[in-house]
Amino acid sequence: MGSLKDKVVVITGAAMGLGYATAEQAAKNGAKLALVDYNADSLQKAADGLKAHYPDLEVIAIVADVSDEAAVKNYVDETVNAFGRIDGFYNNAGIEGRQAPLTSYDLDVFKKVIDINLMGAYFGLRYVIPVMQQQQHGRIVNVASVGGIRGVMNQTPYVATKHAVSGMTKNAALEYGKDGIVTNAIAPGAILTPMVAEAFNQINPADPKKAESEYAQFNPTKRLGLPEEVGKLVVFLLSEDCSYVSGQTIAVDGGQSNSYGFA
Ligand code: NAD
Repeated sequence: MGSLKDKVVVITGAAMGLGYATAEQAAKNGAKLALVDYNADSLQKAADGLKAHYPDLEVIAIVADVSDEAAVKNYVDETVNAFGRIDGFYNNAGIEGRQAPLTSYDLDVFKKVIDINLMGAYFGLRYVIPVMQQQQHGRIVNVASVGGIRGVMNQTPYVATKHAVSGMTKNAALEYGKDGIVTNAIAPGAILTPMVAEAFNQINPADPKKAESEYAQFNPTKRLGLPEEVGKLVVFLLSEDCSYVSGQTIAVDGGQSNSYGFA
């Protein structure tokens, strides 16, 4: 895995789940961190927890809702003020929305999923890329999903926004490769985070654990992924070692998205 020694990395949605797991891996690999989340209490706990584990870690915590353009500009400015640059950007914050068929999906929830998953990811790119252009260097990892490369029953806005993230990844790689900026996306399958636990809760409120183990049977590995398995891939994609892979959406799903039907 590549080193992030002294690299300044911004992570959105850093308070828990894949954001926090990646922050842990990045801290372990020597990065300086700007952690962003809209949940102020959990964000502070995350920053304190990392600092307790890695006493030498330089870390700042910035409360921001990624769907608010001014708040995004502010987290970028605060990071540059604190560290002078941004080497890596893990553009991760996202929500699942609700499970519902396409034609009866709640429109307010639909719009919220677009505001956070699509516009939030776009605003991040809009403000981070100019900083990286000035440096003529940067690594970006956007967070799509297996739902960004395939359909997922009852998750229309999630699938639409994650396909959009994959598309924006291709364009960012095309337009800014000349500036030394390498942009990729990851497509996690079901990774056991609070977001996925909530999805199993919606699928089977009486017995979410049953829904989880049934789902795991569809995976070639017969298990769900672990957040640190995603974090390790992201550390590589943010490192100097990732120098000629760009514009890709890389599945981290135990191989499940290659399957037609049941594994
Ligand atoms: P999670 O719900 O466990 O954590 C998400 C974090 O993002 C939380 O700390 C939350 O407070 C924060 N957040 C949400 N909306 C925000 C906003 N508007 N502004 C700032 N912070 C916000 O979710 P997760 O499972 O860790 O998912 C992280 C990313 O990975 C999401 O983009 C999700 O779509 C994607 N993903 C997850 C899985 C999975 O299996 N867990 C699979 C595919 C894709």
